[in-house]
Amino acid sequence: MGKQKLLSIITPVHNEAEGIKKFINDSLVPVAEKLDLNYELIIVNDGSTDNTLKIIQILANQNPKIKILSLSRNFGKEPALSAGLRYAKGDAALTIDADGQQPPKLIPDFIKKWNSGAEIITGVRSQYTKHGLIQKLGSKLFYKLLHIMGNKSTVPGSTDFRLIDRVVINEFNKLSEHNRITRGLIDWLGFKQEYIEYVYGVRAAGRPSYNIKKLFHLAIDSFVSMSTTPLVIFGYLGIFITVGSFILGLFCIINQYILGDPLQLYWNGSVQLAIFITFLIGLLMISESITALYISHIHAETQNRPLFVVDEKESRNLN
Ligand code: UDP
Ligand code: MG
Repeated sequence: MGKQKLLSIITPVHNEAEGIKKFINDSLVPVAEKLDLNYELIIVNDGSTDNTLKIIQILANQNPKIKILSLSRNFGKEPALSAGLRYAKGDAALTIDADGQQPPKLIPDFIKKWNSGAEIITGVRSQYTKHGLIQKLGSKLFYKLLHIMGNKSTVPGSTDFRLIDRVVINEFNKLSEHNRITRGLIDWLGFKQEYIEYVYGVRAAGRPSYNIKKLFHLAIDSFVSMSTTPLVIFGYLGIFITVGSFILGLFCIINQYILGDPLQLYWNGSVQLAIFITFLIGLLMISESITALYISHIHAETQNRPLFVVDEKESRNLN
């Protein structure tokens, strides 16, 4: 028998004292133990202020495969996942929420797809089981907008329940931008993607840390970090307004001063002024949008993303 592969299971926790023990011991570990590979379980404590840390430290004392990466304060789920991936030693990493909404019993399916060659396997929510109507609509709107804004690679409903191969982990760890949305970045990286549909369960215990305000910020961050379309929209609007008011102005001059107002519109000075001001506003919007584009280029430079990512497994005879 060859060397067994190692899977790093990463789970971020923030104030999960109520359900974490049950989730780890009764749900996650039994599944992990049955896998046909070795595993390490990295629990990232994201600045919990309740008993979570104490509880998971006890769990780690009982099971040496459980590792605890405790952050100095609450950084948010995205940085917590990045931290876990930085410390993962596995041939692949699987990220899973600690609240039971992403069912551990599906992990063997992720492994199966990984074994047959996929490098990124993403769990896709098959039904919208979020509680609030606003969240439901918000999430639909989010993916629509993301798509419109040029991110065509993120499948609607994709979640952070995903397995990524070592090659993807390595490339992900090279990314240095700070304002990061794990989902968007991993999709940006490319590689062989597969999807697994699952029903997003209800929270086993405790309360979600993400409220509508936080989700809204996350959505805005996704747009801003993954696309420049918001900047350009106003430029196009400006062009539309400028051209429109220019035509209107031309019409006004020809109608009134050359043809002698045959349509009898009686456009007076204030109408002319309004058209002129609209014209100027259009110009302003265009120039603002151009400035914004320069800023977006600076933004892209500071993100410092690699120009390209090489798939070494598929490349040949390079050295
Ligand atoms: N989480 C975290 N840091 C935070 C917020 C959440 O590590 O600042 C963890 C949380 O403990 C859970 C997962 O991220 O394991 C998903 O969080 P939550 O259930 O609040 O979000 P939702 O299910 O609404 O996506
Ligand atoms: Mg949750």
